[in-house]
Amino acid sequence: MSIVVENLSKSYGSQKAVDNISFTASTGRITGFLGPNGAGKSTTMKTLTGILPIESGKCLINQKDIRLKGKVIKSEQGYLPENNPLYKHMYVREILANEARFHRLQNIKAKVENIIKETGLRTESHKVISQLSKGYKQRIGLALALIHNPQVLILDEPTSGLDPNQIIEIRKLIKKFGKEKTVLLSTHIMQEAESLCDEIIIIHKGKIKTHFAMDELNDMYPGKNLEEVFVLYTQ
Ligand code: ADP
Ligand code: MG
Repeated sequence: MSIVVENLSKSYGSQKAVDNISFTASTGRITGFLGPNGAGKSTTMKTLTGILPIESGKCLINQKDIRLKGKVIKSEQGYLPENNPLYKHMYVREILANEARFHRLQNIKAKVENIIKETGLRTESHKVISQLSKGYKQRIGLALALIHNPQVLILDEPTSGLDPNQIIEIRKLIKKFGKEKTVLLSTHIMQEAESLCDEIIIIHKGKIKTHFAMDELNDMYPGKNLEEVFVLYTQ
């Protein structure tokens, strides 16, 4: 298990955003983290990436407790944040090289060229971030999350706000990288989960309602599609 979350809780003031959740995500599988707006998806992901401190509970990445091994975790996971904030004035190669330096990588130039190729950024690679379309900005977000070749990928609504063609392209990339990595992907788009995910976790009001493998859907919820299962737990 590459991601293990045990009894994790997080409150903002008096509001419990994440309420005693436990789950695991395993290697080579894309785990969909599904829930309506405000369910607690981003809060969980920010905790897993060390951005939010752990209030109570435990998170392990590759068997390492993120509270004890913060630095190791940074090298073993990649994170695409919600809304993907990027430095708009930077050139594509500049922002990627910057990230590579942050991770103290060797052969930075070659790594930058390689990730440009892997994420389909070549035609735009001479541009400044602000000149890119939203789809290409999202590719930059993926490239930043992947440049250090992490084993675990945490993607917070990676296709939100993209047009249908851009969505298809980003999904292809996620599928490609998901084959060898552990991917935790949040979305509230059922089609996205159906086309990408091997596992489904549904979270609502900070609590995990169900966790199943996509190929168990029919056995567990006879006659229901994913959208109907989502509605069952979140209305
Ligand atoms: P999701 O990503 O599933 O939409 P979030 O984790 O962003 O959900 O939010 C969970 C709950 O916590 C929501 O009710 C949200 O309003 C609240 N919340 C999130 N971030 C903050 C914050 N910084 N301060 C106060 N409340 C927050
Ligand atoms: Mg969110």
